[in-house]
Amino acid sequence: MSGHSIDNPPTDGAQTFIDLRSDTVTRPTQGMYEAMAAAELGDDGLDGDPTARLLEAETADLLGKAAGLYVPSATMANLLAVMTQARRQETVLMEATSHLYRAERGAATLTGSFFEGIPGQAGAMSLELLSAAIAPGRGKLRPALVCLETSHNDAGGAVLPLSHMQAVQALALAQGAAVHLDGARLFNAAVALGLAPRVLADAASTVAVCLSKGLSAPMGAVLVGPGPLIQQARELRKMLGGSQRQVGIAAAAGRVAIHTMVKRLVEDHARASQLSEALQRTTVASCLGVSCPATNIVQVDVSATGHSAEKWAAALRRHGVLVRPWGRALLRCVTHRHIDGMQITQAAEAFRDASVALQDGDAGRNQLTERSS
Ligand SMILES: *Cc1c(COP(=O)(O)O)cnc(C)c1O
Repeated sequence: MSGHSIDNPPTDGAQTFIDLRSDTVTRPTQGMYEAMAAAELGDDGLDGDPTARLLEAETADLLGKAAGLYVPSATMANLLAVMTQARRQETVLMEATSHLYRAERGAATLTGSFFEGIPGQAGAMSLELLSAAIAPGRGKLRPALVCLETSHNDAGGAVLPLSHMQAVQALALAQGAAVHLDGARLFNAAVALGLAPRVLADAASTVAVCLSKGLSAPMGAVLVGPGPLIQQARELRKMLGGSQRQVGIAAAAGRVAIHTMVKRLVEDHARASQLSEALQRTTVASCLGVSCPATNIVQVDVSATGHSAEKWAAALRRHGVLVRPWGRALLRCVTHRHIDGMQITQAAEAFRDASVALQDGDAGRNQLTERSS
């Protein structure tokens, strides 16, 4: 086999980057490749793929639901949750910075349902604003579905308190609305709370989990929920082009993910805390607003440094570290299986070196302006 070893991070030519852009960069494990090669296969569009059916049943069981559906992405799982639980001219309510609202709202144009964002804090909708929005009123659309997200991507991996999830569920049920949980990183949230994933899943009728983030599977997500609803989602999946043939090859990796990759997420969380602490100790710390992560995402606010997130990301890249600009002033750093303690130390040093380089750049520019004036 050429190139990098399968359990190792991606490289760019000879240089190995410390890739903190996302936990989606994780490669399949050796165990996943072995499971893929040995998977029993069928035609999932014809009479079913046995490995996909196993993954669906096992994920449903893990989350305390009757049935599951394997889909190519969590985006499709969320879309199917909306299509099966909200009709045209009904409202789907969700926290205003949730992935469903910010990145998947275009789906509303396919479903005909109206997506309404509810302001919140740390990923948790304001219960007051949610009750006001969901209450019946003249000329209001019927609220059909309320969506939760935990851990919360945009809120820096924040974890919703279980009591908040239950309060949202009570409000929704009181108005006859269902609850969908966008649990793309549900297992991170469960591990952080020290609770079984099904305890969190209990707060919703349907749950989407992503297998291709910190769990390291190469692709795929699972939607779980009541049997008849999942059957309907299976038919809609075909309409969307999400029904695949010998999909057990991918589902086999997904099974390894849910059975063996959940517990180790604590390591990613520990690395994120280590990164946060290391950044708060660096010489540039006073200019950086570093978040204290609940899970595996550290947000670094660079607004006080006078340089944009784009500029910081480019400078860090020159020092061997990849991060993602998150808007104009935030950097997003995500820990995952390919990041060890040594790389966290190196990443913190890269922040220091990048800061010096950015300042030198400023000094150089100032000299130029002085000379030319
Ligand atoms: C990544 C993510 C999704 C979408 O997952 P894909 O599998 O990439 O489609 C949905 N919701 C949240 C919260 C996510 O982080």
